[in-house]
Amino acid sequence: MNIKDRIKSIKKSQYFKQANLHIHSNCSDGKLSFSELVEQGKKLNIKHMAISDHNTLSGWKNFEWQEYDFLIPAVEFDCFYKGTLLHILGYGIDPNNPEIEKICAKSEKETKYDIVRLFKSRHPKKAIDAIHSSGGIAVFAHPCCCWVLNLDKYTKELKDMGLDGIEVYYPYKRHRGIIKFHSRHNIKALADKYDLIITGGTDEHGSLIKQ
Ligand SMILES: [Zn+2]
Ligand SMILES: [Zn+2]
Repeated sequence: MNIKDRIKSIKKSQYFKQANLHIHSNCSDGKLSFSELVEQGKKLNIKHMAISDHNTLSGWKNFEWQEYDFLIPAVEFDCFYKGTLLHILGYGIDPNNPEIEKICAKSEKETKYDIVRLFKSRHPKKAIDAIHSSGGIAVFAHPCCCWVLNLDKYTKELKDMGLDGIEVYYPYKRHRGIIKFHSRHNIKALADKYDLIITGGTDEHGSLIKQ
């Protein structure tokens, strides 16, 4: 199954327990190692799991991920467009593709520290093109956290650049303070309006197993 069909096959009820497409390891600013997260995913019997570190594919490059059906290679790029920071997720990419390597972090700092990441942000078109050249699909991450008043227009412009999907299922409550303008309902409406694939994940930076 190709990546588009695979993600489209995930049902709303599978997020976040059986499907979690947004997780960080210590290859960027998460706490657990890549292999610890994979072990947890196995234990929790997750069906679709994507570790999406900031601006790096180092976790995927150093792991025999092909041996695990539930894993989907992923990355999350820092981008900047029209005065706003945004994150673009890539799914189903080939971690060894040279085109995507070109826009990945050149140092560890660019994966871990907010301030460095801010200054190294890329244009979303650049991220979308690189994701496509490596065989993946590009997804607008947590649009609820974007400081744009006209999210509709903003999303349309990303769609015109080649955007494939939008992250609808996300723990919005955690960001309650800054997302007054956009609700899950709004984002879902944008997905329908612009025919974008719906994705979701918890953006976990710690353990997947909660005590
Ligand atoms: Zn993000
Ligand atoms: Zn994230």
